[in-house]
Amino acid sequence: MTAQTITAADTRINARWLIPIEPFGVVLEHQAVILQGNRILAVVPAATADHQFRTRETLNLDQHVVMPGLINLHGHTAMSLFRGLADDLPLMDWLNNHIWPAEARFVSEPFVLDGSRLAMAEMLRTGTTTFSDMYFFPEITAQLAHDIGMRAQVCFPLLDHPSPWGSGPEEYLRKGAELIRHWRNDSFVMPAVGPHAPYTVSDRWLAAGAELAGHTGVALQIHLHETAFEVEQALQTTGKRPVSRLAELGVLGQNSQYVHMTQIDDADLAHLTQAGGHVVHCPESNLKLASGFCPVQQLAEHGINMTIGTDGAASNNDLDLFGELKTAAMLAKAVAGNAAAVSAHHALAMATLNGARALGRDHELGSLVAGKLADLIAVDLGDPFIQPVYDPASHLVYSNHGRAVSHSWINGVPQVQNGELTRIDVPDLTLRVREWRNKILS
Ligand SMILES: [Zn+2]
Repeated sequence: MTAQTITAADTRINARWLIPIEPFGVVLEHQAVILQGNRILAVVPAATADHQFRTRETLNLDQHVVMPGLINLHGHTAMSLFRGLADDLPLMDWLNNHIWPAEARFVSEPFVLDGSRLAMAEMLRTGTTTFSDMYFFPEITAQLAHDIGMRAQVCFPLLDHPSPWGSGPEEYLRKGAELIRHWRNDSFVMPAVGPHAPYTVSDRWLAAGAELAGHTGVALQIHLHETAFEVEQALQTTGKRPVSRLAELGVLGQNSQYVHMTQIDDADLAHLTQAGGHVVHCPESNLKLASGFCPVQQLAEHGINMTIGTDGAASNNDLDLFGELKTAAMLAKAVAGNAAAVSAHHALAMATLNGARALGRDHELGSLVAGKLADLIAVDLGDPFIQPVYDPASHLVYSNHGRAVSHSWINGVPQVQNGELTRIDVPDLTLRVREWRNKILS
């Protein structure tokens, strides 16, 4: 018998259950995740770890499931300050008569700073470690994400109209190019181009946004085919469905992310499969605004990478991605007329590895594999009202709530410990949010 070499490392997490996402559909029991610096050094059976590693700290999570941190691929973080401000309205009424006027009055650097912090606190607390944002003053959100240590794709907004952030598309593109230059090599902040939607950005600026994304190598994210009305109106004004128009303008591509996609015909599907890109499914926003239903199972069967997002808290009204997974899995079955559509494991992959793939970072995020970045969470399945546990994957999607997340690490740094946020002062945040409520109400 040869002597075992013992490797020193930082942290050992003993997990009752572990869902690594890679390989797909697997639930392991009694595993140890070994962290060293900002990486996962090993994922091995606990008994094996005893012989192989000596760590500075050990955490025993004996009623928990450990999995990769969740990736929320679409939202408008600062809009958390508008949570519950206008409900029960269709998209265009909601935007034209409530959200856009409120934004014109209140959106500013301090608004985005406090709103983004509120959103990040909620996302961290409910298991999200990477999010995507599309909002004004993206430089504020980018800096905050970097300072807190959360991963964020920050899409600068591009639209024809002026906003509190700029006078119009030329200024947005100039500021956006600066955002990309500043952050493009950062591990936490992924700058991206965010043309709002086909109906708010004219051809010239859509093409310019795609050109900027193309030559800088960053992603582009756009709301697309959110409602039947959007498609009908486009047919009347341009004679084309928005997907066809975007294909002609060079907006579709491997680095593009299409948010919503509730209206899809065969020609749209052909464009998407030919050009590539990723669909971001936001089921709760679609349900709340009565926008329509994304055919998730059908798109997945055509090889399209399906990811998930909450959208902003003004149209959801929370950022709990576990809740979104339950809605996505259930809605997919109803839409497909097939109870096997979007299984629990499929839903979990949408919120992890598929999201990482859309960000071009599946080589280092989205699954618990040795060598990847240490972005992971633990979910406490000890709650009496989710007993008994036969299948942790089923519980995560169908019985769980994001607040059962007990621990999270991003880049190896603890962000949630025993259900408490480590890097955000929640009492101070609550006071600031109350002040915003009073201001917005008055
Ligand atoms: Zn949105």
